[in-house]
Amino acid sequence: MVAAAAPVAVDLDRQRAVVAALRAVLPGTSLLYDEEDVKPYECDGLTAYRQVPMVVVLPETEEQVCEVLKRCHDLGVPVVARGAGTGLSGGALPIGDGVLLSLAKLMRIVAIDEGARVARVQPGVRNLAISDAVAPLGLYYAPDPSSQLACSIGGNVAENSGGVHCLKYGLTVHNILKLRVATVEGEIVEVGSDALDSPGYDLLALLTGSEGLLAVTLEITVRLLPKPEFAQVVMSAFDDIEKAGQAVANVIAAGIIPAGFEMMDQAATRAVEDFARAGYRTDVAAVLLCETDGTREEVADDIRRVQELMEASGAVQTEVSRDEAQRLRFWAGRKAAFPAAGAISPDYYCMDGTIPRKRLGEVLRRITELEQKHGLRCANVFHAGDGNLHPLILYDANRPGELERTEAFGAEILELCLAVGGTITGEHGVGVEKINSMCVQFTSAELETFHRVKHAFDPQGLLNPGKAVPTLRRCAEFGRMHVHSGREKFPELPRF
Ligand SMILES: Cc1cc2nc3c(=O)[nH]c(=O)nc-3n(C[C@H](O)[C@H](O)[C@H](O)COP(=O)(O)OP(=O)(O)OC[C@H]3O[C@@H](n4cnc5c(N)ncnc54)[C@H](O)[C@@H]3O)c2cc1C
Repeated sequence: MVAAAAPVAVDLDRQRAVVAALRAVLPGTSLLYDEEDVKPYECDGLTAYRQVPMVVVLPETEEQVCEVLKRCHDLGVPVVARGAGTGLSGGALPIGDGVLLSLAKLMRIVAIDEGARVARVQPGVRNLAISDAVAPLGLYYAPDPSSQLACSIGGNVAENSGGVHCLKYGLTVHNILKLRVATVEGEIVEVGSDALDSPGYDLLALLTGSEGLLAVTLEITVRLLPKPEFAQVVMSAFDDIEKAGQAVANVIAAGIIPAGFEMMDQAATRAVEDFARAGYRTDVAAVLLCETDGTREEVADDIRRVQELMEASGAVQTEVSRDEAQRLRFWAGRKAAFPAAGAISPDYYCMDGTIPRKRLGEVLRRITELEQKHGLRCANVFHAGDGNLHPLILYDANRPGELERTEAFGAEILELCLAVGGTITGEHGVGVEKINSMCVQFTSAELETFHRVKHAFDPQGLLNPGKAVPTLRRCAEFGRMHVHSGREKFPELPRF
């Protein structure tokens, strides 16, 4: 994690030149540059970092996006793409002397092909709007970030977003077939194909998760799945966090692939119950939600096995959702975990790391020790089935030094993830938030390879500069250029 930089003041001559160039290709309503107009774009969901952009553009057509990119390229102006601004790693944080390119007005569902089970959508379409549009056909789009009511599919592609149901159905990259993108020079390129595979390098996979550093997404062909006939959830309560972690490993080891498998520690369930009344036990160390879906017979069999495994793993209580309303209520609680953290603390910092599933209990215990060390509370929610942790560090930005302590705490959590053989990000991306931690996870040769890829797409480094991939100089200054590290902080932990 990086300390928030001082905001950059706007160079007015430069701003005038850029506005004049963009006015030629955009309607007046799509161009903002007065301070009060651009201020709402100063941050994304990672509100600890803010920077007002020099200019905001809101093009309405693909052609306008391409023209904006061409003009910015000619003038050497950096461009940051933005979807709905729900990102949690500062990926859409503006550049002070750059253009913020909002894709929010490109929000059309272009075509739905029921037979092929695909839809072509513009990048500003909200994730949930896709499933809503195809629901009458008995279809849906599977990746379901908890922010799905608001976040855009373009942002999902840029972050390779996940969600509760990605354990069974895959991340964004597994649920898209084709992308239409604009290069930094404003040229349109299509990658992927309507078939399952296409010849050449897998640029679809490369662009998915590239955090707006390689191209701007203009259209996405998404896969649609038939809605499962039936789904049920088992909610299990544990009085010991390590037992809950082991229960997750036991279910997966038994060959069951849950549709969703989530865990919350006591701090999280208490916050959620006060906020959403989901029906969780709050007097236990952890609550697990395990959902299976399919035909009624498949679900009945899986749910019985999950319940048995939970009890054998030491659950003090298990409860199966008795109807659809209760199943949705169980999930509503989990999906409200972030806003619930916001309700109990002036600020919260959502971390995102991934660890091997079997290390869940142990890592949680370590995080509790780190809470004491840094003098800050932390509520933990996880995509437990994927080993994807979301520690929510609770802090108050108005208290001097508290943000810095939060950042130090977060950095140690990420190093802990690396120390047990995990990675510094699960689904929220690197953005500005984890850029220093990239120096810890990757070698200089690996980072050089990333830079060569970036250079091939964007030789002048104009697309979302300063995000996701640190320069080697930055790593040297950060002073933590170690191969697959995290070992120095936690030398006693076995790596695998
Ligand atoms: C309450 C809450 C819950 C969340 N839960 C989850 C979760 O369960 N799973 C999960 O994965 N994430 C989650 N997130 C994080 C966030 O919602 C996702 O990362 C989401 O994909 C961001 O989409 P967005 O449209 O808001 O993108 P933005 O925040 O606007 O941008 C994110 C990144 O994408 C780039 N970008 C956006 N649009 C384009 C485009 N058209 N072309 C190129 N680059 C582009 C931006 O430059 C930036 O780097 C959550 C966030 C919140 C606030």
